[in-house]
Amino acid sequence: MSGSNARLQAIGAVRNHVAVTSVGGRGGPPGEVFGQNVFTVAVMKERLPKQVFKKLMGTIEHSEPLDPTVADVVAAAMKAWAMEKGATHYAHVFYPLTGLTAEKHDSFLEPGEDGSSIAEFAGKTLIQGEPDASSFPNGGMRSTFEARGYTGWDVTSPAYILENPNGNTLCIPTVFVSMTGEALDHKTPLLRSQQAMAAQAERVLKLFGHDKPAAVVSFAGAEQEYFLIDRSFFLARPDLLNAGRTLFGANPPKGQEFEDHYFGTIPERVLAFMLDAEQELFKLGIPAKTRHNEVAPGQFEIAPMFERANVAADHQQLLMVIMKRVAQKHGMECLFHEKPFEGINGSGKHINFSVGNSTEGNLLLPGDTPHDNAQFLIFCAAVIRAVHKFGGLLRASVASASNDHRLGANEAPPAIISIFLGDQLADVFDQIAKGGATMSKAKGHLQLGVDTLPVLPSDPGDRNRTSPFAFTGNRFEFRAPGSLQSIAGPMITINTILADSLDSLASELETLVGDGLDLDAAVQKVLAGVITAHGAVVFNGDGYSEEWQEEAAVRGLPNLRTTVDAVPQLITPDAIELFSKYGVFNEREMHGRYEVALEHYVRSVDVEAHSTLEMATTSIMPAALRYQTELATNLSSLKAIGVEIDTSTLDEVSAAISALRAGILVLRNGLADEPGPSALDEATHSRDVLIPAISALRSAGDALESLVADDLWPLPTYQEMLYIL
Ligand code: ADP
Ligand code: MG
Repeated sequence: MSGSNARLQAIGAVRNHVAVTSVGGRGGPPGEVFGQNVFTVAVMKERLPKQVFKKLMGTIEHSEPLDPTVADVVAAAMKAWAMEKGATHYAHVFYPLTGLTAEKHDSFLEPGEDGSSIAEFAGKTLIQGEPDASSFPNGGMRSTFEARGYTGWDVTSPAYILENPNGNTLCIPTVFVSMTGEALDHKTPLLRSQQAMAAQAERVLKLFGHDKPAAVVSFAGAEQEYFLIDRSFFLARPDLLNAGRTLFGANPPKGQEFEDHYFGTIPERVLAFMLDAEQELFKLGIPAKTRHNEVAPGQFEIAPMFERANVAADHQQLLMVIMKRVAQKHGMECLFHEKPFEGINGSGKHINFSVGNSTEGNLLLPGDTPHDNAQFLIFCAAVIRAVHKFGGLLRASVASASNDHRLGANEAPPAIISIFLGDQLADVFDQIAKGGATMSKAKGHLQLGVDTLPVLPSDPGDRNRTSPFAFTGNRFEFRAPGSLQSIAGPMITINTILADSLDSLASELETLVGDGLDLDAAVQKVLAGVITAHGAVVFNGDGYSEEWQEEAAVRGLPNLRTTVDAVPQLITPDAIELFSKYGVFNEREMHGRYEVALEHYVRSVDVEAHSTLEMATTSIMPAALRYQTELATNLSSLKAIGVEIDTSTLDEVSAAISALRAGILVLRNGLADEPGPSALDEATHSRDVLIPAISALRSAGDALESLVADDLWPLPTYQEMLYIL
């Protein structure tokens, strides 16, 4: 019996692993490879008639409406290009509320009139698709009689080719909406929020004398953390397969206490994977930049260079698909779950964001002149106000069952949303606030707040890793998003709350200037107002500390610890008013998102509950019983030959088995409960009954792991998974 369980077989397989050198073949120097499979602006320029190209660029670069008459021409050029690259199929790619990526594939070949087949891809096929999409979550927005969803071409995100040994596919990024135009995806509201933010940012720029500012966009750069483990171990762990995280597993003798992994040398096998993954990403025009080990053993990070938020969001989704695929080819599994291993650091996905346009550049970059700095400070103040007013929404935008394991666990920012400005910027705002207080008396003193601002260094360097929302010199970094999630949700929220703040500040400035105040004085007054009303959200201290929890409560900042606490933020009257005012979500869409978020939570916990039960009953219990029998047999044999026996090991094992049995019963009962009818009732039951039962059962299982004979233990251990690469 021993020697044949799943774990021991996995260990054998890992031992016999043969290194993979390269999967896709080396494609030449990075310069040539980059964007090789993308229908880039350069390709379009080369292949499209001048007029068509110009119209398309108007949409891509200057956010002008798309002229539908260009579609046929673009489609023909795209098809020709794709077929030259070996594409046989095309797919509308969209981002449903599952958080995953969906594709509907169609062949280029359609039957011709004479029965032969012809390559067909018309403008209408490029612009619109109709996937049979009735099984995607919609939170009740789409009843079955109107189950259709439509996909629509997003001109601003480039089409690309996904390679497969059996034929390539032309992929077209699309939005996904219901027949009545309601958003069923992440891209539609991201584009809407982008537009809302741009309109308000442009009002501010006009006040600063830019008469016809170029279109403002938001940029996002995501830092993706992940774990790599040998795929043989992964396949021997039903919990990783089903739930993406280990539901059992005692802590290894060597954890991350030594912090010797962080920025340590990258194992050769991992480096081979990284080089290969980067190559594949480069082909797709995804600018993957940095790579280093993260804090935990087996944990790494990849950060593509920042891009326009909606392109970055698409690329980020694609990146996860590619990383998983390439890892599998290298005999490894890439884990994106926020907390795959209990007691070991989890993974996040920091979103670095800024706003800017082609003429002004980055609007969150401090300037060299007082005028530029005043403009910078207005944008900064808008962020401060937004985060203070809508911290609950930001928290809701990162809420998921898996991210709950990470937020507030002293390895990731707390669930309290505050802003870190760094000493220098905090000091500037302090001065402004004080100046504001003495405004009527000493104008000169007030001027100090802005006019004689020091030239701010573009990278102040001091970083506070414990803050969920930090200014890092020329951008803000939102650190609460989870490694598994799409960056679209948080970016939608950021754009929208920023639109609201820019709107409010622009209106104040317009009124003050209209009343005859000069711009400088108006700016100072507005800044002072923001910092007085919203300064409570600024916190430069240790976000992990107990004291901060107390102080945040005094400051009135919400502390929404779990998804169940956070998601209802989506349907407060304030939230609904905000999102509908800026045309990002209507009330029905907000309710839809609320339902989907809770359903997703309930389903995730349910999968974990069932997997935990199954592993406890079909893997752990049998191993424990075998060991118990072995001990008992051994004791009775010894006793038979007159050896004095000590039953303490057997007793300990028997007690642990009873605890496991008790845990199984509690979890079974929890699953048999019938919580109230609403999604919130169900989610509350998951949180308050199922999750505690899952952890209790886990503890019982983990206790057995340290008692049962090693050759009987069926599950790859933490030590094996984390240290054998
Ligand atoms: P760190 O680990 O110090 O936070 P990294 O270099 O790992 O920094 O990641 C920084 C991320 O921020 C990258 O994705 C980078 O492209 C992005 N970034 C840099 N500048 C900007 C900017 N102005 N706007 C948005 N993102 C930016
Ligand atoms: Mg970072």
